[in-house]
Amino acid sequence: MIIVMNGKTDNTDVEKVIQKLHEMGHEVHISRGERRIILGVIGDVENLASVPFYAFNGVEEIIRILKPYKLASREFKDFDTIIKVNDVIIGGKEVVIMAGPCVVENEKQIFETAHQVKALGAKVLRGGAFKPRTSPYTFQGLGEEGLKLLARAGKEANLAVVTEVMSVNQIDLVAEYTDIFQVGARNMQNFVLLKELGKIKKPILLKRGMSATLEELLLSAEYILSQGNYEVILCERGIRTFENYTRNTLDLSAIPALKRLSHLPIVVDPSHATGRWRLVSPMAKAAIAVGADGLLIEVHPEPKSSLSDGAQTLRFDTFSQLMEEIKPIIQAIGRECSIPSESELERIKK
Ligand code: PEP
Ligand code: MN
Repeated sequence: MIIVMNGKTDNTDVEKVIQKLHEMGHEVHISRGERRIILGVIGDVENLASVPFYAFNGVEEIIRILKPYKLASREFKDFDTIIKVNDVIIGGKEVVIMAGPCVVENEKQIFETAHQVKALGAKVLRGGAFKPRTSPYTFQGLGEEGLKLLARAGKEANLAVVTEVMSVNQIDLVAEYTDIFQVGARNMQNFVLLKELGKIKKPILLKRGMSATLEELLLSAEYILSQGNYEVILCERGIRTFENYTRNTLDLSAIPALKRLSHLPIVVDPSHATGRWRLVSPMAKAAIAVGADGLLIEVHPEPKSSLSDGAQTLRFDTFSQLMEEIKPIIQAIGRECSIPSESELERIKK
């Protein structure tokens, strides 16, 4: 249930409603917009039926949220969630580019990549240290050593960093080094992990499970939000279909659909969605055209020697080309980016 109050309501009047809800045994989630203040009450609200909330100053409307997810829904918040990570703003006007290797391999690889993607306009450096590999016999990541390298490279290049956390017992360690936690597709329904991430104070990039519906994705986000962490970035990274030319099928309709259903920002990962580097730029352009707030792109100094996902990874020159190609799309839809000018890109390429 949500109680909608006028945005200009006195704080003491808002407090009176909150106090009443507490007295009745409910936790309250607050969303403050300019026009409206929304108090969200999750769970069984039967005992509130007899409370005359309309008699409280400032209360305009009482609405039952019919969707199974509540805090993630548009009903709960009719303005977009904006997430600030250092000086990066995700979910605002700018289309934020997150780029880097699938996995952190060594100092040279991650530092070189950090400086290149930064020069080309990326704002966030990605890189796995704990990797959810399909086979137990392939490279599993450098662990803490990888986290240290990623954090140092991010700092040196002035980029925020994002890296995957695979289990609850890695949270404290990963928190020491990362700005944004990534929950991988395979862990989207690891509810124990999601609940614990709901208790920390860093943004979570939540990837859609490879066979998850949008409702399941939003319910997973709800696990994090309901614990008090409101900074969730959704990520569409392709779903399993019968098509096997591509690694997954990028569900482009998910982006406008999620924008209608939820206020959370959404980024698109065309690398894992396609599994083929030649398809990354075309799908990146499409993703931006349908409203993605950012992109997550795999970039490596030498994809052919990459220890993971080389076939879908861009080189610096192909990444630069992608940045050049997405820029007019970003401008055409009235959004912003930090991609250097064409002549500057030319200079960097040389
Ligand atoms: C990744 O981003 O490195 C990754 C493993 O992605 P996904 O969880 O989407 O497969
Ligand atoms: Mn990868």
